[in-house]
Amino acid sequence: MKVLKFGGTSLGSSSRMKALIPLITSEKQIIVVLSAMSGTTDTLVEIINLLNQNRKMEAKKKICELEDHYKHTAEELFDSQVYIDTGIKLIEDHFQDILGFTQEVLTKLQEKAILAQGELITSVLFHQMLKEQGINSGLLSALSFMRIDKEGEPDNFYIKENLNRELIKHKKNQVIITQGYICRNAYGAVDNLKRGGSDYSASLIGAAIHSEEIQIWTDINGFQNNDPRYVTETRILRELSFNEAAELAYFGAKILHPNSIQPCKESNIPVRLKNFMNPDDPGTIITNQITLNGIKAVAAKDRITAIKIISARMLLAYGFLRKIFEVFEIYRTPIDMIATSEVTVSLTIDNTEHLEEIKKELEKFGIVEIVYDNSIICIVGDFIAEKNGVAVKILEAIREIPLRMISYGGSSHNISVLVKSDYKIKALNLLNKELFEITK
Ligand code: ASP
Ligand code: MG
Repeated sequence: MKVLKFGGTSLGSSSRMKALIPLITSEKQIIVVLSAMSGTTDTLVEIINLLNQNRKMEAKKKICELEDHYKHTAEELFDSQVYIDTGIKLIEDHFQDILGFTQEVLTKLQEKAILAQGELITSVLFHQMLKEQGINSGLLSALSFMRIDKEGEPDNFYIKENLNRELIKHKKNQVIITQGYICRNAYGAVDNLKRGGSDYSASLIGAAIHSEEIQIWTDINGFQNNDPRYVTETRILRELSFNEAAELAYFGAKILHPNSIQPCKESNIPVRLKNFMNPDDPGTIITNQITLNGIKAVAAKDRITAIKIISARMLLAYGFLRKIFEVFEIYRTPIDMIATSEVTVSLTIDNTEHLEEIKKELEKFGIVEIVYDNSIICIVGDFIAEKNGVAVKILEAIREIPLRMISYGGSSHNISVLVKSDYKIKALNLLNKELFEITK
């Protein structure tokens, strides 16, 4: 059974939703994972922020606007009055729930319950649409099987057990609809897999049922070899390995949530990226096979903070790096790049939530310098077979650009350089010209 995930843009209007019907009815039996209609989660975040600032009237206004938007969609989505009435009733019920939260100060749990509404309403409408069109479908609540543990990590055992049990009830449904993003926490309360998490839901579901393929449907044909926002000539990558896709997803390519690679890689389930606007295009297929060697793509990640720790105590000392890493572990802050010399460690982080505390701790070891506004330019490919010359080719291409850090050899799929963000666009274009021109 395949798992097909549709993102917010593909559900952005009633006509877009209807256009998905042929895509999901051509398969034997499938699980369809849905995000919320585009813009919904952003609006729910705004509503929560307004409520937290005690701007209740503005929050209520936004809630009503969102409700109107959904009602308008329902009027277009359904053909018959009976279905329009049912749809509107369902929407009103959900919005009553949201309005119920405007009375008092929000708790974190209530915020999450509000955030879940987007996926809940969208999936209910989608299911009603399929029912009206006579398509044999069932709605399976993600809250009945998707769960995270106390660390916020997916509880794979629970997910597998509960999903497979729930699926028995849907044996006769050709299309089984469920929500992405939403889940329960270790205590049973409504939670989520963080923003953009419905890709992650799809891959967790795929892994739990040993799906034959997971498809992620968006509005582009697949992974591109460079960032089309900054580089004019880009092309689609038809095949990628899980490792390459993970690097690209993490370092900038917005098409796929980086967390969604691991479950598929572990279970060896192919992931296909498809474009709902161009369904005949084969898209990008991600598997554990590497069919092409060499440099495949370039991506950039912004808002990177570089931290340099200079300490004479490091000279000939052991255990020093452990102490430094421990600081980042305590503050649950992942490190992206690292470079060391005998008396200096330079590293980069993306999440600066605890930067002040981290800096204070690190100052116990020596002088700490912080440099903001950097970009990691990441060059991805399979460099195992191409042992000589890869680094030279890359550095040669960007010789005009001052480099703050270089990371080579950490993996055979990624070479990264750190530059001041002002140089990012230039670096992406220079790399495009030098690395991909010949193969085009
Ligand atoms: N609706 C959620 C978000 O906007 C989840 C998703 O779309 O993947 O973040
Ligand atoms: Mg997304």
